[in-house]
Amino acid sequence: MINRQRLSDEFARLAAMTSPPLHEGAIAHYLAERLAALGAEILFDRADQATGGEIGNLIAHFPAAGRDGEPLLLSVHMDTVEPGGEVVPVLNDGVFTSASGTILGADDKAGIAELIEALEVVREQGIPRGPLEVVATIAEEIGLVGAKHLDFSLLRARHGFALDTTGMGHMVLRAPAANRIRVEILGREAHAGVAPEQGVSAIRTAALALAEMRLGRIDPETTANFGKIEGGVACNIIPGRVFLEGEARSHDPGKLAAQTAHMVACFERAADAVACTINGETVRPQLQIDIIPDYPRMAVAEDAPVASLARAAAQAAGQELAVKLGGGGSDANIFNAHGIATIILATGMRDVHSPKESVAVDDMVAVTRLLVEVIRRA
Ligand SMILES: [Zn+2]
Repeated sequence: MINRQRLSDEFARLAAMTSPPLHEGAIAHYLAERLAALGAEILFDRADQATGGEIGNLIAHFPAAGRDGEPLLLSVHMDTVEPGGEVVPVLNDGVFTSASGTILGADDKAGIAELIEALEVVREQGIPRGPLEVVATIAEEIGLVGAKHLDFSLLRARHGFALDTTGMGHMVLRAPAANRIRVEILGREAHAGVAPEQGVSAIRTAALALAEMRLGRIDPETTANFGKIEGGVACNIIPGRVFLEGEARSHDPGKLAAQTAHMVACFERAADAVACTINGETVRPQLQIDIIPDYPRMAVAEDAPVASLARAAAQAAGQELAVKLGGGGSDANIFNAHGIATIILATGMRDVHSPKESVAVDDMVAVTRLLVEVIRRA
């Protein structure tokens, strides 16, 4: 019932449409036309105004056909990571890769192609279904920016699926929340050879803080990292300023707060440790610490109706559907935070965010079959 050629052609067409974050205009207009032809009413929200992007998030309302029901959200994102440039998709032995050292953009265009093919099949077969709300966001890859600015007043769905995780045969019900942590340490500059007594080293403060900090995998639910450090001017100058950027993630809000507080406390203790008296004055490095909540966690219960719907659909499609723990944020975190119980489905994409990225047509066919069963049963 799935038209393999049509699905494959759709994917190739989408992959060739370059769409780096905030430059989704062309693909958005294409999708608007494509979804309208399938029977949707198309809206764009005003996320472009808040983000400086070419276009807002696309929202496509499909009225119920053949039976009533609760609206179902189906979400994808239109942007792809760099290096994008001119993407030339090539199909070899049933597997798509990119020809030219760029990403392929199967993240998330495999999901978009599967969704379109599922809608085609449902319409062709006259499968009765409830209302559908398709959302295609902008700028997911640069911090869920489109979803964070999505006009949720345009949606009625209380549950749904995001087509946006790697591999096959699994779904993600839980993903962590994250805090970003930005730290500026201001010590005191002095000549390192002539007057070291007049200086307080910002780099040494950072080193002491990081040396005692718990980082990496903190527990099965929590991770932490400092990934960026910059500061100092020259070998012979005691550094007066250093800037660090890190993050903490956890599936448990309490653990996230505790890990974040621990990271801050390490800097405070380090500042105390290097504080000293210069010309009769106590000099302690100044700390400017900003904690920026990056995204909230998502946690859909194993027995939530939407999880049961996914399992029933997988059974009908004759597929395995394991539950995997998510390790990062995606648009689904934002949908869940707005009260839409959203599960992430694997789309068959592999090695994403790299020039080795690929997706097999067989896998896209299987995911499309699963989606048809989801829509039939929603
Ligand atoms: Zn993605």
